[in-house]
Amino acid sequence: MSSTPVLPDPSTESPAFTDLGLRPELLGALSALGYEEPTPIQREAIPPLLSGRDLLGQAATGTGKTAAFALPLLQRMPDDRAGDDPLALVLVPTRELAVQVSEAFHRYGKDLGARVLPIYGGQPIGRQLRALDGGIDVVVATPGRALDHIARGTLRLGNLATVVLDEADEMLDMGFAEDIEAILEHTPEQRQTVLFSATMPARIDGMARAHLTDPVRILIAREQPLAGEAPRVRQSAYLVARAHKPAALGRVLDVESPTAAIVFCRSREEVDRLTETMNGRGYRAEALHGGMSQEQRDRVMGRLRAGTADLLVATDVAARGLDVEQLSHVVNFDVPSAPESYVHRIGRVGRAGREGVAITLAEPREHRMLKTIERVTGQRITIDKIPTVADLRTRRLELTQAALRESLLEDDLDPFRVIVETLSDEFDLMEVALAAVKLAHEATLPGSDEAEEEIPQVAVRSPREGRPSGYESRGERRPSRPRTAGTTQVFIGVGRRAGVRPQDLVGAITGETGVRGRDIGSIEIADRFSLVEVPVAVADEVIAGLRGSTIKGRKATVRRDRS
Ligand code: AMP
Repeated sequence: MSSTPVLPDPSTESPAFTDLGLRPELLGALSALGYEEPTPIQREAIPPLLSGRDLLGQAATGTGKTAAFALPLLQRMPDDRAGDDPLALVLVPTRELAVQVSEAFHRYGKDLGARVLPIYGGQPIGRQLRALDGGIDVVVATPGRALDHIARGTLRLGNLATVVLDEADEMLDMGFAEDIEAILEHTPEQRQTVLFSATMPARIDGMARAHLTDPVRILIAREQPLAGEAPRVRQSAYLVARAHKPAALGRVLDVESPTAAIVFCRSREEVDRLTETMNGRGYRAEALHGGMSQEQRDRVMGRLRAGTADLLVATDVAARGLDVEQLSHVVNFDVPSAPESYVHRIGRVGRAGREGVAITLAEPREHRMLKTIERVTGQRITIDKIPTVADLRTRRLELTQAALRESLLEDDLDPFRVIVETLSDEFDLMEVALAAVKLAHEATLPGSDEAEEEIPQVAVRSPREGRPSGYESRGERRPSRPRTAGTTQVFIGVGRRAGVRPQDLVGAITGETGVRGRDIGSIEIADRFSLVEVPVAVADEVIAGLRGSTIKGRKATVRRDRS
């Protein structure tokens, strides 16, 4: 391949979406979604893709790669298209991703009237047949189901202008290599081919050599650490499903009790939504995004500096150049789209020798992006457990205790002596103190923790292990689950029926042994048993620890899994 790696340079003035040559319908859609600027992968990929070049891109979920290929693909569709056979085919590893990618196409292409269809195994084929028959522009498919349709003659690829192989390393890992080869054989030679992969093992390189012509090559993460650029900040991440993110943010902030925090979001829309949610939870949150006038922004910053706001919810663009002395915490509500952006964001705390904290809320799928950031910054991001309701209660009691201690040391308490003396005629002094503490606790921390609900914990999963559900492959065979070298599975004889959740198992293991949460691999919970993947070296310790304890109040059989 005669291609040169392109590294986006964050220090250069970043072009706006309008500089990338996108048509007004697409710009309108992006603006409606509240996207303020292209992500690095979009900046690099969109111009060459618009000009028809092939592209090999290294990018994980969370980098904005879907829009990077979807926008040019939509733009290149002719307005006056005749015929019903698809112009573009996007191959993805899982049905979740098929749905997600086609939703993205819908969002971006709604003003262009693009007809997009996800096809994947597990969905009735009849519905897909009818949709394909009605004419489609873009098909987003898992390889197995795509091949089924090709064999039936219901998916005709003769008109394809573009093929995208998304998450190509995942597809190869799942055993789709032959299916992909077979599909590509049915496509025109003159097509544009785009390949995105989070990692670039030799097999991906081989695939690119075989199917891409003189591709532009894009890496979004330098392999070399950015020496000395990242400040020393306590960095942690929580894995949490999208739906639970606002609650998780609230919980983490409740426990961390920051002096002042900035929460970064990807889009204006998200900034507005989250600001509202956090205000509803009793925070004094202010929104800051590029859609606001300078005057509005100055007012927000004034409130933050004066301490009348304690949470700033912002986009990267709006927060650029912003310097707030009292910031103690930076929160990434989403994983940033590039390691450079992460470094930029967390650089706002931990200045001048003060301790800073950086917190990232990541969806399980974005775990890889966290790894990339760790590699690039050369610093560890600890995956922590979302505080439980019990943790929150403990923390709140600690805060009350600290407040009382301060009062005992500093305040003039004499005016209240008469109350205590009078009450002590009738009640025990301890009882009087308890009632006073209760009132103080409730007064300083309004909002009862009775209403708090547990936030489901997502098991830490290393990229090559447990997959999201939604496997699909030809004939619906489920590939045997690849297991990381050096790990084994421990069988535990309690499961879903006993109310066991991943966090119970992680808690039992980390509580009973010296094993850390991040060493625990995938966790599977079946009705009557659970399987936990742990490093071989600690398996015996885990087994002994769990045998000596109870899970959900039960003693369970624990042994190495024999399957
Ligand atoms: P992806 O890496 O393609 O899975 O995208 C990750 C998330 O980023 C998706 O939720 C997109 O909607 C969002 N996104 C993509 N591009 C941008 C952008 N330029 N600005 C804000 N959000 C974006």
